[in-house]
Amino acid sequence: MKAEIITVGTELLLGEITDTNSAYLASELPQLGLDLHFMSTVGDNQKRIIDTLKLAWQRSDVIIVTGGLGPTQDDVTREAVAEFLGEEITIDGELVKRFEELFRRYGMEMPPSNIKQAAVIPSAKIIPNPRGTAPGWWIEKDNRVIITMPGPPGEMQLMWTREVFPRLRQLAGGHVIVSRTIKTFGLTEAEVDEQVSRFLSSTNPTLATYAKRDGIYLRITAKAASEMEARSLIEQREADVRGIIGDYIWGVDSDSLEGAVGSLLKARGLTIATAELYTGGLLASMMADVPDCSSYFKGGLVACSLEAVKAFGIDSGTKDRHGGASVELAEAMAGAVRSTMGASIGFSLIGSDGGGEADSGTAGNIFISVDSGKEMRSFQRRSFGNRARARQRAVISALFELRRFLLEEAECT
Ligand code: AMP
Ligand code: MG
Repeated sequence: MKAEIITVGTELLLGEITDTNSAYLASELPQLGLDLHFMSTVGDNQKRIIDTLKLAWQRSDVIIVTGGLGPTQDDVTREAVAEFLGEEITIDGELVKRFEELFRRYGMEMPPSNIKQAAVIPSAKIIPNPRGTAPGWWIEKDNRVIITMPGPPGEMQLMWTREVFPRLRQLAGGHVIVSRTIKTFGLTEAEVDEQVSRFLSSTNPTLATYAKRDGIYLRITAKAASEMEARSLIEQREADVRGIIGDYIWGVDSDSLEGAVGSLLKARGLTIATAELYTGGLLASMMADVPDCSSYFKGGLVACSLEAVKAFGIDSGTKDRHGGASVELAEAMAGAVRSTMGASIGFSLIGSDGGGEADSGTAGNIFISVDSGKEMRSFQRRSFGNRARARQRAVISALFELRRFLLEEAECT
């Protein structure tokens, strides 16, 4: 079945609020096996909402509308749907009583404008709103479904999960859609695309790539009669992908790099201490994002200047290069933090400011060192982009190399 999302609100068109409702619903629809073909946004204008509904009616089976159900004059989604379907609006007395009761509970009198939210049309079934006064409408007519839900994301999402999703699941029945995200780092999106190009045109499972802050993701989506069947399709395609770019894959679905590193450290009974220069503590901060990190993460040293590093008694003894950054300094930092904090592994990162904006053509040098006592391994990487991006990129590069180091160590022992 083909689905379409329409978000209503002039403030969306003015860029005052971001349309998160569409993104949320779009991410939910695959689980129902509904194919989303269009998303549109329209202002609070009855004629233009009707025009948008007309178009949707011609090309979609399920039309999901959010916004414009408020009590104010400018909210006209109900009126637009009623006029589009050629149906008469009446006020549902039961609903009015329910609103009055709700307001009374908060010690308030219901403003007359709220009566508008008790509007119904003959073909609409009321969808209760567990969090607010604006009910939704569920309309089935001429083999199509129109669903209206309130704009505030909290209200919409609760109504969706409690009321709409289960009803749509019944309606859509028949097949399931399952997805799996494979996370890579170290290749550009174009490189990933090229390597897996032979699978990109497949329709079941589908394969798509997209860029995220911690690398390039590949999303495999399969449609089948049962979840088991869909999972089996995904597993086969995942094996194909792993066979080609396996070295760059660091996780799947909700995995995070810092979580992957943490699991490896814990599994091997190792502890770690970090030392970072120019990244303002972002590395330590990400390590600390993992809920049980205190069992392996001892802490970190954060320096924002070369003088600060020296103040900790760390000196590589080499002539300053790259504004003080060098492999030797990274190694001295890793060694020092390892012994000072009594950790099994000293891990250092020297970031850079990225050399300017992404299009400036310049890049900065990043130095990463891992000192395990038995072995010191160092990496030099390049970073570009503005300061925030360069900082993030440096930390992601460092965590990726650390993960690889830990995996290889495990293989050796
Ligand atoms: P409305 O029901 O259109 O009056 O919307 C009420 C409020 O919900 C708006 O002021 C926004 O803060 C929020 N909202 C409405 N539509 C969206 C949307 N598509 N995405 C995110 N927030 C929304
Ligand atoms: Mg509005």
